[in-house]
Amino acid sequence: MELTPVTDLPEIRPGDDLAELIAERAGDDLESGDVLTVASTVVSKAEGRVADLEEYPVSARAQEIADTIGDLTEEEKDPRFAQAVLEESTELLIDCPFLLTETRFGHINVNAGIDQSNVPGHDLLLLPKRPTKSAERIREGLAEHGYDDIAVIVTDTCGRPFRHGQRGVAIGWAGMPASRDWRGEMDRDGDELEVTVQSVIDELASAANLVTGEGADGVPAVVVSDWEFGDLEGSNELFRSVEDDLVRQALREWDWK
Ligand code: GDP
Ligand code: MN
Ligand code: MN
Ligand code: MN
Repeated sequence: MELTPVTDLPEIRPGDDLAELIAERAGDDLESGDVLTVASTVVSKAEGRVADLEEYPVSARAQEIADTIGDLTEEEKDPRFAQAVLEESTELLIDCPFLLTETRFGHINVNAGIDQSNVPGHDLLLLPKRPTKSAERIREGLAEHGYDDIAVIVTDTCGRPFRHGQRGVAIGWAGMPASRDWRGEMDRDGDELEVTVQSVIDELASAANLVTGEGADGVPAVVVSDWEFGDLEGSNELFRSVEDDLVRQALREWDWK
């Protein structure tokens, strides 16, 4: 497989047509059947998901969170920031010493994925409201510009429990399944695989994140070519339901104060 950055994209502004901007620059690097990853940062900018702290009147809950939160950045200690996180979330899983929440589209992340880097002119960048819808729109837009059948993955950089270091994950996708189901395949020892479902969209997002970097590179979109999903069954499950998630159940039970 090959990973190719889409270069020369401008600073993205509300209302920009990302599919068009990418189509104008991708040239022959992008072909039918390829995967295109797009950083959620630019999807959010194009969708106008910027915000300022002054827009968030502080609730009692947000004030309580800000009063007890650990030694974080100045923004994170601001009760208006806590309010922004609450408004993006359906469940608060950890409220001290940092905020871990479920976003409205089912993704669990620190601070509801609200970003404070690469956001010129505003305090905050919220995640796209429906990243899978965003991916579908970009996929359709690319088709309108002559790039048929491009699978699109919207990515974000997230921390990981149990391990140091952040990495890219998929938060929305279109034109390909989320996972490749290896169950029923054989290992080299002739044993049948019973549990392995490979989250290919996360793996592609991580690979692409190596190309985008995290700072000032200005590379939010990456073409993945010469990669095949293959013949295995696909699945579109990504976010676990509560019933299916022991860690989350344990967090609900745990009194962390
Ligand atoms: P996130 O992982 O979605 O939060 O995005 P990052 O903030 O890590 O940025 C990923 C890549 O996109 C980096 O190379 C940034 O420099 C780049 N980037 C962020 N915003 C823009 C933008 O508006 N225009 C361009 N051309 N690149 C951007
Ligand atoms: Mn960022
Ligand atoms: Mn981010
Ligand atoms: Mn990133």
